[in-house]
Amino acid sequence: MQNVLIIDRVSEKLLNELSRRGFGVDYRPGLERSDLLEIINKYSILVFRGRLRIDKDVIDAGERLRVLARYGIGLDNVDVEYAIKKGISVVNAPNASCISVVELTIGLMIVVFRNIYNYINLVKLGEWPKGIFIGRELYGKNLGIVGFGRIGSRVARYAKIFGMNILVHDVRDVSKDVRELGGVQVNFEELLKESDIVTLHVPLTPLTYHMIDDYELSLMKDGAVIINTSRGEVVNARALIRHLDRLGGVALDVMEQEPPRDEIYRRLIAHPKVIVTPHIGAETVESMDRIADELLHNILDAVKWL
Ligand code: NAD
Repeated sequence: MQNVLIIDRVSEKLLNELSRRGFGVDYRPGLERSDLLEIINKYSILVFRGRLRIDKDVIDAGERLRVLARYGIGLDNVDVEYAIKKGISVVNAPNASCISVVELTIGLMIVVFRNIYNYINLVKLGEWPKGIFIGRELYGKNLGIVGFGRIGSRVARYAKIFGMNILVHDVRDVSKDVRELGGVQVNFEELLKESDIVTLHVPLTPLTYHMIDDYELSLMKDGAVIINTSRGEVVNARALIRHLDRLGGVALDVMEQEPPRDEIYRRLIAHPKVIVTPHIGAETVESMDRIADELLHNILDAVKWL
């Protein structure tokens, strides 16, 4: 029997489906790293999310480890190269949460452009601030999409329906697909200079780390908005604070430090032009369900070869 250790919150569906197929399932959401290092040698499959680093120490401690299964997409907390070198399969669920992240991204654009968060806060405080924060329409605005993969390309499709002009920057040549949506692929600088909203959909890599920094922010239009539902490290929070006066607003679903503890992130969160959601891109009933299906499929595929 294959023993599975699950160290983060996952849907019941995955637990049930694994048990039904004869896996021994040990469900320990929130397990601390020190405890993980102590017990991991009993398991052949580890299921986790982005909370803990699955680094060399964890991989070495897992003497029986055969499969690392990320419940979600991002593998930036995993030493994938080292795992593969040791013959351990690394699987994830890259497609399952796509629609949920896209819908959150579009939602955040509207919330920021219409100042919905300010209105909600004041109405809750007993005020009726009609006309105080005049909003903007998405229609006719330039949307700069950085990263035209699973999520970015779908954001583009939805944005087209809203009547936005689409600018895309990607390291791959995606110009044909972008043109089909009436958009244009441009270089990064041009996208920053022309966009009313810049939305980030790149993976975290050495090239995308602090991809939005002082220089990039200085290129952006006055009143432009930044949406980041990708990875916190893509935006330099310190630089962002320095440019907030000029920007129209910022919406972040991800932060460099999650949960945010350091003063710099607290300052960012408290700023009236910034809204932050606690990494909820994939947190929908449908996405959780799809992650369970996709991950189960990929785990079964990986164990088939053991
Ligand atoms: P993807 O791999 O399908 O697409 C990424 C795109 O970025 C690709 O087209 C790639 O060519 C491009 N790219 C890579 N490096 C680049 C660079 N330096 N400059 C420009 N373009 C570059 O990824 P995806 O599934 O669309 O996910 C996008 C992001 O969303 C990832 O960071 C992922 O971790 C994140 N995500 C967040 C949540 C959430 O809960 N907020 C959920 C799922 C995914």
